[in-house]
Amino acid sequence: MANDKNLKITFCSGAGTVTGSNFLLEGNGKKFLIDCGLVQGEKLADDINWQKFSYDVSSIDILFITHAHIDHIGRIPKLIAEGFNGKIISTIPTKEITEIMLEDTAHLLSKDTDNKLDEIYSAENIKKAMKLWETIDYGQKLNVDHGFQFSYKDAGHILGSGMLEIVYNDKKIVFTGDLGNSPSPILRDTEKIVDADYMVMESCYGDRNHEARDERLKRLEQVIKDNYKREGTLMIPVFSLERTQELLYEINNMMESGSIPKMPIFLDSPLAIKLTSVYRKYEKYFNKTALKIINSGDDIFSFMGLKFTEETEESKEILRVHNPKIIMAGSGMSNGGRIIHHEKNYLPHKNNTILLIGYQALGTLGRMIIDKIKKVRILGEDVVIKAKVEEISGYSGHKDSDHLVDFVSDTSNTLKKVFVVMGEPRASMFLAQKLTDNLGVKAYAPEAGDEVIIEC
Ligand SMILES: [Zn+2]
Repeated sequence: MANDKNLKITFCSGAGTVTGSNFLLEGNGKKFLIDCGLVQGEKLADDINWQKFSYDVSSIDILFITHAHIDHIGRIPKLIAEGFNGKIISTIPTKEITEIMLEDTAHLLSKDTDNKLDEIYSAENIKKAMKLWETIDYGQKLNVDHGFQFSYKDAGHILGSGMLEIVYNDKKIVFTGDLGNSPSPILRDTEKIVDADYMVMESCYGDRNHEARDERLKRLEQVIKDNYKREGTLMIPVFSLERTQELLYEINNMMESGSIPKMPIFLDSPLAIKLTSVYRKYEKYFNKTALKIINSGDDIFSFMGLKFTEETEESKEILRVHNPKIIMAGSGMSNGGRIIHHEKNYLPHKNNTILLIGYQALGTLGRMIIDKIKKVRILGEDVVIKAKVEEISGYSGHKDSDHLVDFVSDTSNTLKKVFVVMGEPRASMFLAQKLTDNLGVKAYAPEAGDEVIIEC
């Protein structure tokens, strides 16, 4: 480095791809990691995850976590296994959600035949990570020797999500993590950044815009009413974190206002049930509208007819409940979880409906259903799909292309450079170009392994 006060950022992974967020910031004798996520493709964890980290793990002072999605936290057990003994820092809800998510992932990976993963993803390594973990609230400043100051701003992406602000030598560097699709039904809006010198930002939807928000609510109401009329079962494959809680909240509002008829609704996912209780615990982080409803005495995750089915036996009982009814279950892409049992039972009947509200990766059952493939194989049996297939695309948890540009525009006057990461190459490069064209800021999309010097 030209000047020993300068900083260096290495984009270890999470550049040129959406998942595997892992960045190294070093300078003035200190080393910090930002996120340590799993690289995910068609598989829960690509083989590349189990290769050695490109840096000396034992030399890292602090790992900062932006939020508790597995592509931001999933390699923490591996970091521990390789000898990490520094601190881990996040917001308060992120720590709690991470523990639940890591335990769930350990359970899913244990079904894998590769025993080496079991050693890495052990209960012991997860416990050790939790022992090293400290929390700070949004806005609280953490001073670290050698002149570094860290704090989180609300990213509005999932409960606990934070953008990490680093101040060093009068320069501010912001790692955005994932940026929420504000306004969210429950969470507060993404806080503004107005004084950043450098930004490392996500670009999941860097080249696309979302369907309008009001549309999605109307469509959800329509699909629920239609299922009621047809006296069918409505299946909604859901992601357990955030998407489930948003849906519960929106269905709660519809039920309370009488815009949809009452019918049995099942949340049939132990993970989603656990995470919903964490949301309940941290409602102080919700937005004003959600808080107003809570303060009026309404439980926003509970309404007449809603049943949480945690035990397998309870889940099996759902089959006996008369139609019309609604089942929400994981996984969101129907590549595992209880939803596939329901799909096997209900997809062959024309009065039923399946509603897909999230991204469906290539190769998953969810993708086959959305691609209107008529005959699929579920749990070893051929299933002919006669149920109605519905899709609502507006439920993304990420800012779309235009909103990412709006977000950067608040600080375009102070920015020296933006590093566009956490997106497919096309999305990242498109966004970088758009930031340059529309705002006149210097922006580029680094590749995995690239290093940059930040002059301080
Ligand atoms: Zn995320």
